[in-house]
Amino acid sequence: MNESDSEHIAGILTGLGAEKAGSAEESGLIIVNTCAVREKSEEKLYSFLGRMAALKKKTNARIGVVGCVGQLQGADMLKARPYIDFVLGPDNYGQLPSLLLDYGEERVARTSWSREWDVLPDGPPLRENPSSAYVPIMQGCDNFCAYCIVPFARGREKHRPLGQILAELKHLAAEGFKEIQFLGQNVNSYRDPGTGFPFPHLLREAGSQDGIEWIRFITSHPKNFGREIAEAMRDIAKVCRQLHLPVQAGSSAVLKRMKRGYTREDYMEKIRLLRDLMPDISLSTDIIVGFPGETDAEFSETLEILRQVRFTNIFSFRYSPRPQTQAAKLRDDVPFPVKRDRLLEVQRLQKQIQLENHAAFVDRTLKVLCSGASKKDAGVFSGRNEGGEVVNFMGRGNPIGTFVDVRITGYGPYSLRGEAVDS
Ligand code: SAH
Ligand code: SF4
Repeated sequence: MNESDSEHIAGILTGLGAEKAGSAEESGLIIVNTCAVREKSEEKLYSFLGRMAALKKKTNARIGVVGCVGQLQGADMLKARPYIDFVLGPDNYGQLPSLLLDYGEERVARTSWSREWDVLPDGPPLRENPSSAYVPIMQGCDNFCAYCIVPFARGREKHRPLGQILAELKHLAAEGFKEIQFLGQNVNSYRDPGTGFPFPHLLREAGSQDGIEWIRFITSHPKNFGREIAEAMRDIAKVCRQLHLPVQAGSSAVLKRMKRGYTREDYMEKIRLLRDLMPDISLSTDIIVGFPGETDAEFSETLEILRQVRFTNIFSFRYSPRPQTQAAKLRDDVPFPVKRDRLLEVQRLQKQIQLENHAAFVDRTLKVLCSGASKKDAGVFSGRNEGGEVVNFMGRGNPIGTFVDVRITGYGPYSLRGEAVDS
């Protein structure tokens, strides 16, 4: 979502006549888009801002901080950091043109929230990926998982009008994009604000857009993921057989303390349903280790779920307390070395699983959507298959933005290697 926001910001700036500078040192305007979801992302921001403070002295560039940290700190950030010129929360990017053109040197912080989708800029974004486009469909979150700052940083859910989404897809198809990724903190709860049509309806409508070949969506909350969406995935040919379904923890007791709204059994039931309907589906997940009170036995249930499901890939994190959340009131009682070891164990196990999964791909030919070329090696390209696996391959000509059949010849834990085959 942050990457998509950055593309929208870049689109607004381009619309105002700005051009991308070669480096921060050469820029007259620097906008830092921020993430508050974990302590580590915030820490990284502060060390980056240290660099910006030094740069301001040298170049006097105008510096803005936008996104979730901007939202949470607002005017306090302006007060504490005199080199920052403006702060905008995630619902306030649309004000960038007036802020840049009309406000001169005045320092401002804008952190209002709205339940209306039209506060957000309506593109066109400056997209990074030439073949796959992010398409936000909802923003914010009403779930309040105990550890999560998102509802405090992005506010309540708002849903994008269906007509606007479909118009964007038409436009993307005309521009030659082959894949779209619907984005939202909780896409499964999507409803068209006008008609109330739910997420599977959006998938069906999107599935009939000529030119768009692959449709993905992220993130699905297991609590809101039911048979109706799974059947839509099975029935709509263009919806990729791939799903990111964050489990967070393998123990029902931990899930209850996290306020996730499902048990381990509920989650496994959904995995069984998905694999019944689509035996070849590729699944990925998010894991948090060291949530307050997590015992060794509870943690081992997380390892067990990884062994049972055998995900294509995972994103795993050490729990960090976040301001305003319910879990921040609990004692952060799993010591750092234990969290670190649990994270290493999760990652070690998953790496092994991925190596085993990848071995089965050797000699198979996969359809890959090529998104870029290696900067170092001529003739080496990169893309993803339907399951979302990264595939690096040798090819001829310029396949970027097109589908390529790739015969897999090798692999590592995080990607596959192969050669384009002439079709
Ligand atoms: N909306 C998505 C997740 C958004 S946040 C969902 O419901 O699953 C992305 C991921 O960051 C989460 O899935 C979680 O694994 C991780 N995360 C969020 N808060 C965290 C915290 N306080 N400590 C560690 N990881 C956290
Ligand atoms: Fe955070 Fe939970 Fe909302 Fe995901 S569903 S963004 S983890 S509160």
